[in-house]
Amino acid sequence: MKINHLGIATKGIDEALKFWGNALGLENVHTETVEDQKVRVAMLPIGETRIELLEPTSEDSPISKFIEKRGGGIHHIAVEVENIEEVLAKLKSEGMRLIDETPRLGAEGCLVAFVHPSSANGVLLELVQENKH
Ligand code: ZN
Repeated sequence: MKINHLGIATKGIDEALKFWGNALGLENVHTETVEDQKVRVAMLPIGETRIELLEPTSEDSPISKFIEKRGGGIHHIAVEVENIEEVLAKLKSEGMRLIDETPRLGAEGCLVAFVHPSSANGVLLELVQENKH
């Protein structure tokens, strides 16, 4: 396993890039709207992992709610796994609370599923299985 990305909630990606891009010097290599999750994402590689900037695309986006409550910040940590179905089954058998019992389609054709923060010490954990094309 490895950390695939860190998800950061922003009010707007363009504004956030003034810090993460221009000032800090990371490069935005991919921007995409993930309709299913009502977010626009920007991917900024940093070492072997990436910063994922998240911007809500509607008022009922989970990111809108997060920003309302906390004003932005680290939203989730994404762990890359080889076989997401297998990991979900294992977590379920251990009695862990899942937000997604079956994987959904994420950015760049990845399969993703979220684990509830109540099972992960208050951290929203995203499991990612990369699309090998
Ligand atoms: Zn993510």
